[in-house]
Amino acid sequence: MKITVIGGGPGGLYFSILVKKAVPTAQIDVFEHLKLKGGQPAAVRYKNNHL
Ligand SMILES: Cc1cc2nc3c(=O)[nH]c(=O)nc-3n(C[C@H](O)[C@H](O)[C@H](O)COP(=O)(O)OP(=O)(O)OC[C@H]3O[C@@H](n4cnc5c(N)ncnc54)[C@H](O)[C@@H]3O)c2cc1C
Repeated sequence: MKITVIGGGPGGLYFSILVKKAVPTAQIDVFEHLKLKGGQPAAVRYKNNHL
């Protein structure tokens, strides 16, 4: 089974984890157009840290 996930935010990453647990042989490709993974939470910066 091949799955392509667009977006490495919480939704895309959690979906990928659940699918991998349910179908360990699944090949999952996650495409994220930002350098950071983690979606909106990763984009928040405070004192040079990503929250
Ligand atoms: C300031 C702030 C504080 C928050 N605090 C909390 C909190 O305390 N607790 C909480 O539960 N929720 C919080 N949220 C809400 C939480 O961030 C969102 O509910 C959550 O990020 C949604 O996850 P998502 O994966 O659906 O979308 P997103 O986080 O938006 O992830 C989508 C990802 O897809 C990528 N993407 C989009 N289009 C493409 C494309 N064409 N190709 C490749 N990649 C693409 C984006 O770059 C992004 O990384 C907060 C949100 C903000 C903005």
